[in-house]
Amino acid sequence: MSNVLRAALLSLFGSLALGCASPGAPAPGPPARAAAPSPPADLVITAGVVRTMDPRSPRAEAVAVRGERIAFVGSAAGAKAFVGPATRVVELPGRAIVPGLVDGHAHLYGLGVALETPSVRGARSAEEAAAVVAEAAKTRPRGEWITGRGWDQNLWPGAAFPTHAPLDAAAPEHPVALRRVDGHALWANAAAMRAAGVGRGTHDPPGGRILRGAAGEPTGVFIDGAMALVEAKIPADPPAVRERRILRAAEEALSSGLTGVHEMGVDDETVAVYRALAAAGRLPIRVYAYLAGAGRLQGLRERAPDADATGTAMFVLRGVKLFADGALGSRGAALLEPYADEPSTSGLLLMDREALARAARLVADAGFQLAVHAIGDRANRAVLDAFEALGPGRAAALRFRVEHAQIVSPDDLPRFAALGVIASMQPTHATSDMPWAPARLGAHRLKGAYAWRSLLASGARVVFGSDFPVEEPSPLLGLYAAVTRQDLSGQPPGGWMPEERLDLDEALLAFTAAPAYAAWAEGQRGRIAPGYVADLTVLGRDLSPDRSLVDTPIEMVVVGGRVARAPRDRRAP
Ligand SMILES: [Zn+2]
Repeated sequence: MSNVLRAALLSLFGSLALGCASPGAPAPGPPARAAAPSPPADLVITAGVVRTMDPRSPRAEAVAVRGERIAFVGSAAGAKAFVGPATRVVELPGRAIVPGLVDGHAHLYGLGVALETPSVRGARSAEEAAAVVAEAAKTRPRGEWITGRGWDQNLWPGAAFPTHAPLDAAAPEHPVALRRVDGHALWANAAAMRAAGVGRGTHDPPGGRILRGAAGEPTGVFIDGAMALVEAKIPADPPAVRERRILRAAEEALSSGLTGVHEMGVDDETVAVYRALAAAGRLPIRVYAYLAGAGRLQGLRERAPDADATGTAMFVLRGVKLFADGALGSRGAALLEPYADEPSTSGLLLMDREALARAARLVADAGFQLAVHAIGDRANRAVLDAFEALGPGRAAALRFRVEHAQIVSPDDLPRFAALGVIASMQPTHATSDMPWAPARLGAHRLKGAYAWRSLLASGARVVFGSDFPVEEPSPLLGLYAAVTRQDLSGQPPGGWMPEERLDLDEALLAFTAAPAYAAWAEGQRGRIAPGYVADLTVLGRDLSPDRSLVDTPIEMVVVGGRVARAPRDRRAP
């Protein structure tokens, strides 16, 4: 076991976790249990290996589940004692069981929206993106909004932002609004701008920018705070539509091997649908949700965070999500120095330092957990300052988090551990951004960028996620990016800034025990041990720290002892 892993376990579980760990030793198995197991287990799964993430017995062969919890972890022979006449026995030789994988920063509802809206992701030109919109326009009544996302002008010839013209040609009679792949810019057609009442006389709102032509007329691209000028005019979705999207996205998450997600920013209408689904037993994965905070902070005093003492709730709303800055791709990330490839700007702070400090205090006083999006080094510093200003130990006690923590000044890296602030990071962002991030930042600022190993080694708690639908939902892609820092074609050889690679167990921890800690469920979820909640991901083979991670099949998923996704050979085609 690496020193970094030991430190990470210690920070997530306290000193007990390492009590009798013996690095490198073969699995000793769990402590012997004197009494005969009674009553029998509901479910017994045997596999090639169980990666328990429990340092006392890191490897096992079988898991027995009674009700919602794990009753036994150990040898296949030992598990036989838990088999009764009604026990479901699943034998999966050669497969691997890991604690249920959790995406620590995702947009489940956003995935549901993305699944049923046209995707222009991967389009190689503005015209190619417009062609997707033209297809969608054929099936929708005139005047209905067409929304979508996924475009990235960096993939296009010239890499320039588009204008409204191709979308006007594709859908002249539908308002069209397409978010950039990072969600920080909006591309609209003329009909959308007309519907929104946006024109030459419209001023840039605070924290936003309208791209304009020579005569000051909007060209169709709205950055960050300016997106609301158009998006505020898009009609709201009814509950039935929200429910359909949540369930579709949850199925997608399950098939990616996830047993839970941290849902990063939802509105009250969506929360109500989540609560109804959870109450009816229809939510198949755990959702730990953060309220989209802007505009809801004042009302926070009148509400209380959800409690989940047993770790078994399917929906918990306990946090608030805010944005300190934008994204690197659209040069909205707030940097301490100007962009290397556009020296006239250093990005935008969406909330100034005073507003951040005020918000942090408000959220803390209401007893909620605050998660603040911070990409640039200026934003990260501003958020850490706001958390520090709460007073000694306060941010740590409330488990405040920084989302992305993407570009951090080396001076600020140790502050995550010192303040007890969780660094919530997305390994695939690094491998998606690496072709162009050096141009934005310049070589000197790459130190401290996407620096998950430096953060972990400093003693910070690092949670991993994907930020889907910005990236693909599969946590295996995140594990691969975390341990190789290579793209899917294996580039660059040896990995990008390879000193920031993790080993497999360190990366697994960030998708299991670390999100459990961030959701106040350590000791309940995040490892495979007796008494823990039976959230399990079963993989088609054991994991190894290379390209094979990416196409490792998801064999089976168990959530709270319930088989949420059956073994592959028993699944309907
Ligand atoms: Zn996000």
